[in-house]
Amino acid sequence: MAPVEVDVERPKGDDDPGRRHPNTCPSCRSHYRDDELRHALRVCAQCGHHFPVGALERIDQIVDPGTFAEIGADLRAADPLAFVDLRPYTDRLLDAELQTGLGDALVAGTGRVVGRPTAIAVMDFAFMGGSMGSVMGERFCLAADAAVAEGIPLISVTASGGARMQENILALMQMAKTVGAVDQLREAGVPYISVLAHPTTGGVIASFASLGDIVIAEPNALLSFAGPRVVEQTTGEKTAPDFGRAESNLRLGQLDAVVPRRELKAELARLLFLFSPAEDEPTGDQGPVPLPEDATIAGESPVDRVLGRFGLGRRRG
Ligand SMILES: [Zn+2]
Repeated sequence: MAPVEVDVERPKGDDDPGRRHPNTCPSCRSHYRDDELRHALRVCAQCGHHFPVGALERIDQIVDPGTFAEIGADLRAADPLAFVDLRPYTDRLLDAELQTGLGDALVAGTGRVVGRPTAIAVMDFAFMGGSMGSVMGERFCLAADAAVAEGIPLISVTASGGARMQENILALMQMAKTVGAVDQLREAGVPYISVLAHPTTGGVIASFASLGDIVIAEPNALLSFAGPRVVEQTTGEKTAPDFGRAESNLRLGQLDAVVPRRELKAELARLLFLFSPAEDEPTGDQGPVPLPEDATIAGESPVDRVLGRFGLGRRRG
């Protein structure tokens, strides 16, 4: 019997991100149930594409269960400019809150990462494109204040389209404000680890996100002040295919390491362990710091190479 030939016609607009199901991989078109994708840390099992992660889910991925305490949860953006573009700013804020369940584009707090007390600031791109307005900046600063007050490290995870145009100068001044907060971390001698997720652009990459003592990024994340399209339009020159991507940023010295999401918690744990003061070593009643099962103690990771450059070897028990 002759094989039956079947033509599969892809519907028009299949590649349009607006029409693609959010759980369909844009790279290899594998499709996942939401619980599958969540279980896989939102990394495509077929091709390794990193899907976006919401702030609360990211906190679940990084912070030990039951240890996160949010700071500044009640803060909401004011609208002193009474800004209206196609719609009033207040309408957009309300929609974003209903859609994400978050009060703004950053969730701040404290928690434990593999047993180590840590301040956390995590952005959510789903809230108005992860734009930086006054509440986002203030929450980042509250996380930094907690880090200074308690003498604990700060970890931030960013995903942002840049400053929030609806807040105009109030948004732009968050760049100076957050940089001031990072300066206070330096003065207090507490480590700041910045994790850049796709995309980290505009005023966020131009301020605190680039200023970590260690700056690491997820694979293929777009990390640049302006995207390739804008740069091409402005300069009239074609950009390289990997323009602004994490790997080219690493090559150009803007990053310390590119770390796949599946290894992120283990790498953060390793860094927190290395940066922790000697008197903070776990005592008998706390037990040893449990590293995640997949933390490779023997192998050299990208972060190990970075630490090697600073003459920081891993302490072995
Ligand atoms: Zn894929």
